[in-house]
Parts: sequence; C-alpha cells; structure tokens
Amino acid sequence: SEMCIRDSIKIFYQPVVRTLTGKLCGMEALARWEDPERGRLTPDMFVPVLEDAKLIYKLDSYVVEQVGKRLHTMEDSGMPVLPISVNLSSADFDHVDPLDVVERVVRKYRLPRSYIRIEITESALVKDGKKLQREIDRFRKAGYQCWMDDFGSGYSSFNVLQNFHFDELKIDMEFLAHFTEKAKSVIESTVRMAKKIGVQTLAEGVETKEQLDFLKSIGCEKIQGYYFGKPMPYDNVVERIKEQHWVTETREMAQYYDAAGREDFLTNCPFALLEDDGTKFRYLFVNNEFMKSLATAGTTSTDMSEHTINDNASPLSHLFRNFANEIAESGKEQVLTYTSKNQYMRLRCKTIASCGNKHIHRAELINVTFNSDQRQQDMLDGLVRSIYYLYNTVFIINFDENSCNPIVASASSWEFLHQKTYGLEEVRLSYARQNIHPDDQERFLEFVRLDNMEQRIEDSPEGMIADYFRTKGADGNFTWDVHTIISIPKTNGKVFLYTAKLSPLDDETLRKHVFKEYIKDDKPELKTAENKAE
Ligand code: C2E
Ligand code: MG
Ligand code: MG
Repeated sequence: SEMCIRDSIKIFYQPVVRTLTGKLCGMEALARWEDPERGRLTPDMFVPVLEDAKLIYKLDSYVVEQVGKRLHTMEDSGMPVLPISVNLSSADFDHVDPLDVVERVVRKYRLPRSYIRIEITESALVKDGKKLQREIDRFRKAGYQCWMDDFGSGYSSFNVLQNFHFDELKIDMEFLAHFTEKAKSVIESTVRMAKKIGVQTLAEGVETKEQLDFLKSIGCEKIQGYYFGKPMPYDNVVERIKEQHWVTETREMAQYYDAAGREDFLTNCPFALLEDDGTKFRYLFVNNEFMKSLATAGTTSTDMSEHTINDNASPLSHLFRNFANEIAESGKEQVLTYTSKNQYMRLRCKTIASCGNKHIHRAELINVTFNSDQRQQDMLDGLVRSIYYLYNTVFIINFDENSCNPIVASASSWEFLHQKTYGLEEVRLSYARQNIHPDDQERFLEFVRLDNMEQRIEDSPEGMIADYFRTKGADGNFTWDVHTIISIPKTNGKVFLYTAKLSPLDDETLRKHVFKEYIKDDKPELKTAENKAE
C-alpha cells in the first residue's frame, strides 16, 4: 500500500488569505487520489475508507513528508515561505506518533516548526477528546500551531472550545453555505469569543465578495475558499503568484498582522486600523461608526481621508505625521485634537504592531464639536483655528467652571490632562510637577498663579502674559517653550486661552531673558534658578 500511496496521491494546496490585507498567508495541503480508472478522487471518497482500514496514518505521514519537501524547495527558491497546514485523523494516533512523524520531517529538511500547522477536526475531538487533548498539548509544547478544523459542525462546539487549547479556529463552511442572518450571528459570536480567549479565526468556504466583506467587518482574520482559489497543484500556486500577482506574506509580516488581528473589531466605537510606512498612511480597516465620524467633517470615503492625511501640502498631514511618530515611539495611547471643516475632531491612537518602518495604529475618531458647549465653541472658533498648527499645547482655562479643557496637547501633557478637568489649582500643580523642568517649577507656579492671573493680564501692555520654561516634550526631554496666557474677549476675564510652543529663541538669548525677568520681578529664587541654568 505504501507504493500505492506514493503513486496515487497528489497533494493539492488551497490558498489561505489574510482578510486585512488580501495577501496570501498560508496554504492547506489536501490529498487527491489519482485513480487510473476512476480518475481523481476527493478525500471524502477515500479518507473514511483508509480510516476503516487503519491505513490513514500512511496517507497522513506521506502528506507530512511531501509538505516538508515542498517547504524546503520553497525556502530554496527564495520566495517567502508560506506555512502549510496538514490534516490529521484521530486514527493516526493509534498507529504512529504523529508528532514524531512531523519532527522527523522538520529535522530532515531543517525547517522552523512554525512552517507546519496541524489541523484536527472538531468531530475527532468530540469522539476522542481525552486522547487527542494530550496529543495536541504535545504538539503545541513542541512549538506547532494546532488548529481546530470544521468548527461549528458538531453539536458541542462551544464545549470543545472550552475544553481544548487551540491556536486557531477554522469555522466550518456550512455557515457560509447558508449565509443567513442566523448563520452570520453565529459566525460573529464565534469570532468575538475566539478573540476573547486569544484564538485566531479562519473562515472556510468563502465563495463571494459579500461573504468576504462580512468576515472582514467582524474581524475574522483569515479566509479560505473558492473566492481566492480551489485546491490546486503547487505549480499552479506559483503561477498565480507570478501571473495574478498574488502577494505572499513574509514571516515578520505575519506576526505583525497577527497582532492587528487580535484587536476587537466588534466595538461600537468609531474604530479603524491605519497602516503607516513612515511616510504614508493607509486604512486597513474602518468600521461604520468611524465612517460616520469622518463624514461629520465632510470626509465621505477612506480614499478621501487618505488623500488628506497623505497630502504633503496640507498642514494637517504634518500634524498627523508628527503625531504618528510620537505614538509609535512612545507605544502609549495618545490623543490629538484637530479641526476639519469647522469641526473639532478628537483622534485617539495607539500603535499596536510594528515591523521595521511599518506600524499599525488603532484609531478612534470622535467629533467633539457636538459634545461641547456651543457658546464656548463659537467663541473659540476664530481663535483656535488660526493658532492650531502653531502650538503644541492649547488649553482653555475657565474660572467660572473652575475647569481646564485641553484643545491641543502634546503627548506629555495629554498624559495628565486628556479631557476637560475640574479643579484648576490641582491642574496647575500637576502640570508644573509633570511637565516643567524642576529648576523652572517655582517660576512656573508663579506664572500660572490663579488668584492674580486676570490682574496680571490686564496690567500687561500686550494683553497677555508670556514666559519661557523648560517643558517636557513627547520624547520625555525638555525643550525651552514659550507659554502664553491671554484673556478671551467677552468673557469678563473669566476664560483664558493657554498656549505653549517651542521657543524660537536660542539658549543664550533665553537665559538672558529668563534672568532679566527675574531681576524685574525681584524674586529671591532668581539666584538659584540662574545658577542651575548656567
Ligand atoms: P477540510 O480540511 O475542511 O478541507 C477543506 C475542504 O473544503 C476541501 O475539500 C476543500 O476543497 C473544500 N473547500 C475549500 N473551499 C471551498 C469553497 O469555497 N467551497 C466549497 N464548496 N468547498 C471548499 P477536500 O479537498 O475535498 O477535502 C475534504 C476533507 O478531507 C478535508 O476537509 C479534510 O478534512 C479531509 N482531508 C483532505 N486531505 C486530507 C489528508 O491528507 N489527510 C486527512 N486525514 N484528511 C484529509
Ligand atoms: Mg482541514
Ligand atoms: Mg475544514
């Protein structure tokens, strides 16, 4: 029978595609029996027969060997190696040690274990759960990903999910075959639950664009099906890569996109994933809520939005570029408020994956114009828009409300003030403590003294007060920034605009300036501050 298998079995490969990118990210090895008389037989005709005859292990061992060889030639050809999954039957474990079979092949061809994935069907688990769980654990401990095949085809799928440890669920194609609302909601909740327990998802049997769009919208990470390709001989896969420009994913890229795939796409927030190659942004994913947010500021498509944020001639693009660099460097969630078509938009971002120069940012976009007090908004419109791109920090200080409202803020100031905050005295102290150089703090605290702020501004010839302080920037280093406070007209001296930006003066001039200010105010701290600055 060994001779027989070798002569009759052909291995076909079916492409697996990553939903986010449309790139080829793997293949499944599927056996075909070439019978001289009856032609090509599909597995449903011979797998059960081989199982009954207790010969299935021969087929599966042969497939594993061929897959190893194939991976080896792929590596030699210099193209990115696509991981290949193989199907194991429960009966395999009765006759051989499949882990040992796979390990031998991996050693023989010197392959990383991540190249071979193990598929075991849900029905096998239901039947031989105890035995298989041990074996699956052994595979996983040895470094192989194990996938549960045909998930949802049995009656106790969710029990199986609870009791077994898997890396990926392959959702049975039955659900897509009957693409009803009910089937959709089962798929959706499966994906949601899988994400919760850290398991990846793949949908089998994708045949239409409509199915693909649905699966993408719910964050199902991979798809396999006739829409992309039937199982085919390896040469045909290569042909498609060459002729139909199928793009294959490198292993680094796989890890990078896996990280993005772990995000919960089923949120009610306006949610998007943006890919950033260091110079340009591209949407990987956008949900409906995000589109609605964009639309409130007149942006009606992702193309249009990409155009704006990538247009070097627009000041907005520079704002986004700096912001993106900041979040990628800090690794923290940060917020940027900007104006577009008279709307105030608040963008909350975090970098969730990086690979070389490439990053994926998770973004949440809210139009805050709607949420804030209209009267204050009108007042601010004229003022803020013009100074928008000049300042790293713009706060509204409101004495009536005893509140401080960040309008524009640098990374470091958002950390302590990312939303309207009540209690001006506390904001004053924490801002000084967290964002101002220790040597400048005392001076700063005088500058932002609340009890005489109105008076000082009124007394000043320019109608504003300004001073220079070493201020913490996004990178955690201090720069000399010029801070100004002006009174907003028609607010009876109750509302002030606070701004800060990088000082245009050089260090020398700055120190003289700071020094002079001290003489004028005749502060005893002068000497210490000056000594330390020198
Ligand atoms: P599977 O592992 O769930 O494999 C996917 C099956 O779905 C394949 O059938 C594939 O041709 C089919 N398929 C994929 N996309 C579509 C689609 O869009 N529409 C439709 N209608 N069908 C699609 P295939 O190749 O006939 O394999 C049937 C089953 O036989 C496999 O199900 C697998 O469990 C088993 N099998 C295949 N090769 C082997 C093997 O080497 N060893 C073992 N033990 N079982 C194997
Ligand atoms: Mg399979
Ligand atoms: Mg399957």
